Amino acid sequence: SQRVVIIGAGIVGTNLADELVSRGWNNITVIEQGPLSMPGGSTSHAPGLVFQTNPSKTMTLFAKYTVEKLQSLEKNGQNCFNQLGGLEIATTQERLEELKRKHGYAQSWGIEAHLISPEECHKKYPGLNKSMILGGLHIPSDGLALAARATQLLIESTTKAGVRYLEHTVVTGIEQANGHVTGVTTNKGSVPADIAVSCAGFWGVEIGKMIGLKVPLLPLGHQYVKTTAVPGLVGRDVNKNINAMNAEYPILRYQDQDLYYREHGEQYGIGYYGHRPMPVNAASLGVTPEKVDEKNMPSRLEFTPEDFEPAWKATKELLPALRETEIADGFNGIFSFTPDGGSVVGQAPNLDGFYVAEAVWVTHSAGVARAVAEMLTEGRSKIDIAELEVTRFEEVQLSPEYISETSQQNFVEIYDIIHPLEPKHTPRNLRVSPFHARQREQGAFFLEVGGWERPHWYEANAELVTSLPKDWRPVDRDAWSSKFYSPIAAAEAWKTRNAVAMYDMTTFHRFEVFGPAAVDLLQRLTTSDVTKAPGAITHTLLLNRHGGVLSDIFVSRIEDDVFQIGANTATDLAYLVREARQQSKGTPSQWVQVRDVTGSTCCLGLWGPRARDVIREISADDFSNNGLPYMGVKKSGLAGISVTMFRKSFVGEHGWEIQTTPEFGQRLWDLLWQAGQSHGLVAAGRAAFNGLRLEKGIRASGSDFSSEYNPYEAGITYAIQRDKKVDFVGKAALEAASRRTPTKRLRCLTVDDGRSMVLGKEPVFRNGQVAGYVTNAAFGYTVRKPIAYAWLPKDLNEGDSVEIEYFSRKITATVVSDPLYDPQGRRLHD
Ligand code: FAD
Repeated sequence: SQRVVIIGAGIVGTNLADELVSRGWNNITVIEQGPLSMPGGSTSHAPGLVFQTNPSKTMTLFAKYTVEKLQSLEKNGQNCFNQLGGLEIATTQERLEELKRKHGYAQSWGIEAHLISPEECHKKYPGLNKSMILGGLHIPSDGLALAARATQLLIESTTKAGVRYLEHTVVTGIEQANGHVTGVTTNKGSVPADIAVSCAGFWGVEIGKMIGLKVPLLPLGHQYVKTTAVPGLVGRDVNKNINAMNAEYPILRYQDQDLYYREHGEQYGIGYYGHRPMPVNAASLGVTPEKVDEKNMPSRLEFTPEDFEPAWKATKELLPALRETEIADGFNGIFSFTPDGGSVVGQAPNLDGFYVAEAVWVTHSAGVARAVAEMLTEGRSKIDIAELEVTRFEEVQLSPEYISETSQQNFVEIYDIIHPLEPKHTPRNLRVSPFHARQREQGAFFLEVGGWERPHWYEANAELVTSLPKDWRPVDRDAWSSKFYSPIAAAEAWKTRNAVAMYDMTTFHRFEVFGPAAVDLLQRLTTSDVTKAPGAITHTLLLNRHGGVLSDIFVSRIEDDVFQIGANTATDLAYLVREARQQSKGTPSQWVQVRDVTGSTCCLGLWGPRARDVIREISADDFSNNGLPYMGVKKSGLAGISVTMFRKSFVGEHGWEIQTTPEFGQRLWDLLWQAGQSHGLVAAGRAAFNGLRLEKGIRASGSDFSSEYNPYEAGITYAIQRDKKVDFVGKAALEAASRRTPTKRLRCLTVDDGRSMVLGKEPVFRNGQVAGYVTNAAFGYTVRKPIAYAWLPKDLNEGDSVEIEYFSRKITATVVSDPLYDPQGRRLHD
């Protein structure tokens, strides 16, 4: 097999060595700067609480696998997981509601979970001050990881299997030739390698710097203390062998005060996230000592008792027995935080063969390691890792200032109740489109995406709501689904369906692919034939080798050798850039370049039955079906402004995406605005857009589908061309998938009562059993019902009834045929 060097022997690095060995790879070296017996990274002191449930399906499944793996690591009759169960308690009404939502996630992702009463909480955890508890969430399969022990067992077993470990060896550089890793430099010499994986934990930033890779994580101190012996527990671990791992009760979370607890025999361990963020520069920690011990390791900073005071007070209220104790020992332990709270995993965009697996909790360690092993051995992780991809960040999100501010914010908010639409409060206004000033004048309500300010609705349209036809009037929503929402969206949707609206599309990713072999690149990577003459737009898919969907993109042929790509993420860009780079290493005729033009262009979507009337006011060009048919693109001029007109639509109405360069953006807005007034034009935002999109059955990459699904399951076969002659990535797997009957499908549901909203990720029940989960949901203004898309077993048919659980309430919905709006696409082609 290829020569792999893993940097770091913490819980992630050792798990990765194991996952590779178990897949038959046999040329693996793990390099660790500390002593192997106790390397001194975060793993060496992690208390190891494993709460598996997470809003993210990927992270929950990684946690589930980690539990299974830790249970399988056994020596002397003892494995590495103490399955005590996990208890999260609510002391506020808001938290009680939040636990219901979390219970929903657990069901969606297949984790057994129970909402329990204060009495039951007390029964499971007698030490609790019952008068404070409003209820709890109990997860029987959660528990304590023995992370340091697991690391030792993995070192032992993988060493036997042939993995080479180099301890007290510091990685100082990464060697490369021709854009590929060739080795790793250490203070003791060079180690040749085809693949290097940085599992260096919070030192990951420093390793990244060795290849010019910005690793978006921030090391932060986090307080953990051990109390003196709790009177009622004294002698328990000696006299009464409670269990081999010194604990008896569930692991406990008291998130209303940013606290968590575990037992250490007769003592208690308390972790606290309520203190000020304590950023650390990993490079300043110096060399790992020759001999590391509990008190002396680089990842452990001096305890600052004053920061712990509120935690200590809150603890004594919650757990009265601890009033009799004192703090025996405390430290500020270091681990990684990231701008969006996710781990950082995957291949570096700038160096082939270099991978990272960082900002990973013990909780997810084996899951992440398995994912990386699958990437190396099979070319993809079976569980989709798009949300963890190192390439997911926009350039603006990779500045040290951004990483520092947002990662600290994540520390502060780690146990907070966060609405799925809740934006970052700072930093804001990092990227604004040239329409921004006009949008503000219209009272835009902005949410943030990828550093961009994106309007969700415009207050200027408020007065339209009262004059809406009866059938279009917005229905009342509950408090949660009303957050970051306005009924104004109904008016903007109505205008889009009945007159014309303009949408700022600037925040969508746009790339240019150009060069003599541009067409070869796109033919090789996409599911459609893109050799059509300039002027054609093709909606197509990027697949992995296994037929899983990486993304859906719009390929517009502008000139013979110039294409514009409408894409979804920065990861799409990294993928295309890497493939172009590799292709260009061949003969000059294979040369192709990919560049991001998102910021150097801006775009307005002008859509609605009167869109053509608006354009006629300002251009004599032919925008009829002959002049520019549906899915066509052409350059044109609008009152002296050079534009590219893309005839496509995300909302199911006739119109164009009109693109120009930013210096003309405001003039373009003003021009359309003035021309549109007599035709009823309004500016419309993302809230209306989302509802209209779902009515039209347009699936969203990343949430509705991912690499875990093939296009047949996801219902996106319209973006594949079955008779495409030339080979492309994923073709064989796609053909095989076309012959199989899918076991699950992405289905459209409408809510029967016409008003109960859900927001996404809720579990869906059939005959009382969990059958799937919601991906996206929105109110369908035209169909006058909430719409949800959900992954469900294939045997669910149109007309079948299901229930969606929302904050413990069951909402009846029906499986329906989609798209719900204009299934023939007449509105687009006319
Ligand atoms: P590490 O364990 O830090 O391993 C990285 C290794 O890389 C280190 O051993 C280091 O020496 C080595 N290395 C770095 N640079 C180099 C170099 N240049 N050359 C050679 N070697 C190098 N997680 C949970 O899931 N549950 C919890 O309850 C929990 N509690 C925590 C409590 C505290 C106080 C702290 C600090 C963390 C806690 N965590 C918890 C987080 C968890 O400990 C870490 O996320 C996890 O251990 C990281 O594992 P790792 O293998 O990525 O990193």
